[in-house]
Amino acid sequence: PIALLWFRRDLRLADHPALLAARDAAGPDGAVLPVFVVDPRLWDPAGAARRCFLLDCLRDLDAAVDGALVLRSGHPARVIPALAREAGAETVHVSADAGPYGRQRDAAVERALGEVPLVRTGSPYAVTPGRVTKGDGTPFRVFSPFARAWRAHGWRAPAPRPRSVAWCTGVRSDVPPQQAPLDGVRLPPAGEAAARAAWRRFLDERLAGYRDTRNTPGTEGTSRVSAYLKYGCLHPRTLLADLAGIEDASAESYRTELAWREFYADVLWHRPETHREAFDQRMRAIAYDTGPDADERFAAWAAGRTGYPIVDAGMRQLVGEAWVHNRVRMVVASFLVKDLHVDWWRGARHFLARLVDGDLASNNHGWQWVAGTGTDASPYHRVFNPTRQGKQFDPDGAYVRRWVPELRDVPARYVHEPWLAPDGVPDGYPLPIVDHAEERRVALDRYARLRASP
Ligand code: FAD
Repeated sequence: PIALLWFRRDLRLADHPALLAARDAAGPDGAVLPVFVVDPRLWDPAGAARRCFLLDCLRDLDAAVDGALVLRSGHPARVIPALAREAGAETVHVSADAGPYGRQRDAAVERALGEVPLVRTGSPYAVTPGRVTKGDGTPFRVFSPFARAWRAHGWRAPAPRPRSVAWCTGVRSDVPPQQAPLDGVRLPPAGEAAARAAWRRFLDERLAGYRDTRNTPGTEGTSRVSAYLKYGCLHPRTLLADLAGIEDASAESYRTELAWREFYADVLWHRPETHREAFDQRMRAIAYDTGPDADERFAAWAAGRTGYPIVDAGMRQLVGEAWVHNRVRMVVASFLVKDLHVDWWRGARHFLARLVDGDLASNNHGWQWVAGTGTDASPYHRVFNPTRQGKQFDPDGAYVRRWVPELRDVPARYVHEPWLAPDGVPDGYPLPIVDHAEERRVALDRYARLRASP
């Protein structure tokens, strides 16, 4: 028999339960047909960085399956059943998708497949979203108790990489979609082997100091595996297994970060509408600015020309690497929402179209957390002060100097507030477009009014 294995966010062969399920379904005399569908609903909004990275991951995967990967374009509810018929597949195997679109799409594929079963094995998470609940079966709304229950729930050991798989060959592929390479953008090397090498390097060289360096954007302190997790070149179970038994504060802190990823996927699973709407329903009425002035401020933010060095460095890193350090993601997001009073969703959409690790759950709930509309308990007081954040987390200005060359020669004392420098703001760098103290008051006032309203 032929078992069709439809790859989505699981572009690897190691620790891949759905692959093992497909191989078992095919049996000793059968073969596995590896397939990837270029779905316009996901491809079009992905942005150039993710499209480039994904195409490179697919080339890597194709080599790993001995050139048998079949690539087709179109809506999966049409493409997958047609391919199953064409190849005579008796089963279709996937890793479950927990996102709002993925769930609808898979239900549509399942209906269209008719008699041929769609078999879901595993997911891109250590614990499949929806499985960790409170004692009464309701979902968690707050991170810390979720994280405790998630750990107590536990996860399987990594599945072995199959020694050999009989791949089904000779099925026609569509021409891959075109994506021009991104000039000057430093993307991570694609594919499973590169992902494992990056992870091993982190374990060997940086894990020990992770707790202390994970917040300093001027040093390479984090693992930078987010794009690999996004497309499943690595599975979090593999990372958790490698960390098992390491009980120091850094390993602990890393497990907690992985738990955030699982938490946000769980939140989105239970409340799919929150990729767009405020998780905290009281916050749905918050007033954001719109119109030409807001558009102009948004454009200055996006171009890295707000006059606040750490904000501008972050937005330029987004352009230069399609990735931004976590601390700086929080700072730039806070600035857009609380200093410029622009709807968090505009910022989230801008990020999603540019990040190589852009992920609906982590991104949109990361934005909601910062905007004070999300899962956090007392969020609205939190307004990041960009100057103080810069001084605290980039004390010598290494990060700012790297991304904002105009500030390269400004003394460290002034690098986060160049408007105070005795020589003035360097030529070509803007003065602050807003006054943080003033905008902070405006933001807090809007939140307070909202809370006071019936
Ligand atoms: P590390 O510090 O090495 O962390 C290891 C892994 O833990 C990450 O790869 C990621 O999978 C997970 N993780 C770490 N922090 C978080 C977090 N706060 N929330 C969820 N997962 C986390 N992460 C994405 O993967 N995709 C996104 O689109 C995304 N958008 C974000 C938007 C905003 C506004 C904010 C504040 C955070 C966002 N994050 C997103 C979370 C975080 O910034 C990135 O996961 C992290 O910077 C990736 O770099 P790393 O792999 O070196 O992280």
